[in-house]
Amino acid sequence: MIVAEATAYRRRFDRLLERLPRLGVDAILFFEMTNIRYLTGFTGSDGVFILRPDKGVLLVDGRYITQAGEESPQCEVVQYRDKIGGIVSALGEKEAKRTGFEAAAVSVELHEKLRGKLAPGKLIPLTEALTGLRSVKDDREVSLLRKAVDIATEALLQVIAWIGPGVEERMIALEMDYRMGALGSEATSFPTIVASGMNTALPHARPGFRKLEDGDAVVMDFGAVHAGYRSDETCTFVLGGADKKFREVYAIVKDAHDRAIEAVRAGVPCREIDRIARRVIDKKGYGLHFSHGTGHGVGLDVHEAPRLAAVSDQVLEAGMVVTIEPGIYLPGHWGVRIEDMVLVKEDGCEILTKMSKELKII
Ligand code: ZN
Ligand code: ZN
Repeated sequence: MIVAEATAYRRRFDRLLERLPRLGVDAILFFEMTNIRYLTGFTGSDGVFILRPDKGVLLVDGRYITQAGEESPQCEVVQYRDKIGGIVSALGEKEAKRTGFEAAAVSVELHEKLRGKLAPGKLIPLTEALTGLRSVKDDREVSLLRKAVDIATEALLQVIAWIGPGVEERMIALEMDYRMGALGSEATSFPTIVASGMNTALPHARPGFRKLEDGDAVVMDFGAVHAGYRSDETCTFVLGGADKKFREVYAIVKDAHDRAIEAVRAGVPCREIDRIARRVIDKKGYGLHFSHGTGHGVGLDVHEAPRLAAVSDQVLEAGMVVTIEPGIYLPGHWGVRIEDMVLVKEDGCEILTKMSKELKII
């Protein structure tokens, strides 16, 4: 582990530690692997992290003991045979009187078992307090996100040259996944979406056997992963040429996207960004056809806090990385979505994604 990373984990640990008194707990139990990775650097698929005032304890089973020691030297790494027993002994009988835990990540069964082993009233569910744990990114995280964007952009540029009538949607998705991987992506951020023609009217279409035809709309939603950090971007293209109606709808979505991005800055409520995008689409009579939120945070998870939606009560802060992705979907016809990732700043934002969002005919 390089020094910069060790310092970053230490800073995250200390920041949470400062919040313990306000949360009314003496320790926090983490089960969600993305949060554990964020706090410790451990990238395994199973484990528990206990944040205690004196130290961080990373509990893993035998498969991960070597890896955990290498990835998280700043933690005390403990091997358990049974998870519950490991947690109970690592919590310490006397030290932690009130232990917070990630309520959203624990099954009823695990909760019951833990409760059975610990003193009554010892386990305190935490949900709200941990929601925004990862939402503000530090400089290193932003540079990892930029790298993920670069990989995805380069892959798309290679794949565009190859898209044309007669090619199946799923072959384009496979080609995109292959190129991202070949360029260094660890995985895909999420299953790549390639939709064509009528399929573009489904916001989350799965790439199928449909062959592209001249005049088709093509929606591609894709992302690469670099050091765990994910990119997320959507481009809508047209094959051959676009008719008047398509150009009109594309221009409305683009306007909603541009105005929302113009409004992004620290201190603005997330629901306000959603309202701005939605109002543009509503005014043109397509409100019912914009059936999802305007955006979401992105980082170690492709969907994380904050949510840019009408019901969100979060506020944008400098260092958050969020998507702006309005869309209009006309069932039986076609759909348009335009998505960029932006870095929130005090006085505005920087668009991290690289592809131009002007209508592109390919
Ligand atoms: Zn997306
Ligand atoms: Zn997205």
